[in-house]
Amino acid sequence: MTARFRQGAGRLSLDYVRTLRRRGKPGAVEELPDPEALAAWITECSPIPVSTLPTPEQVAVAQDLREAVYGLLTGSDGAAGRRLVNAAAARPTPAPELDSAGGLRWRADDTVEATLSLVARDAVDLVSSPAIHRVRPCADPDCSALFLDSSRPGRRRWCSMDTCGNRAKKESLRARTG
Ligand SMILES: [Zn+2]
Repeated sequence: MTARFRQGAGRLSLDYVRTLRRRGKPGAVEELPDPEALAAWITECSPIPVSTLPTPEQVAVAQDLREAVYGLLTGSDGAAGRRLVNAAAARPTPAPELDSAGGLRWRADDTVEATLSLVARDAVDLVSSPAIHRVRPCADPDCSALFLDSSRPGRRRWCSMDTCGNRAKKESLRARTG
């Protein structure tokens, strides 16, 4: 299965906020426009596959939460955004469970709510930890994704070497070779 959504920003909350691609730029792309898309993100990026299709209301909540998380992580949040994040974080997260073969699986009564709770808790944990100083915007001016730089020297510039980093490398090569 090829991945539909981009991951690898270093934290669940950072992968989640990039589902609004090119935020604030012309040509911004909403990757979670409907229940089907939100279900696909949960199945691909959360530990639990989605059990029932999200409602349109849950899609609206998920988008609002995402923008509140983005505000929190970039220091541009307000009290309303903080309340949204706190409310989502207060909901139950997926619970670990052993299956009959002794393998680990996760369960939740509401897989949508539980995943959004994981995202919100991850954001709260991140923003209140020293790691927040290593959250940066991608150096690609069109990208607008955030990533956690966990490299030792702290000089990572791209949200992903496969996409933005690779494109920049090719462009500088092209500029050099004319
Ligand atoms: Zn990028």
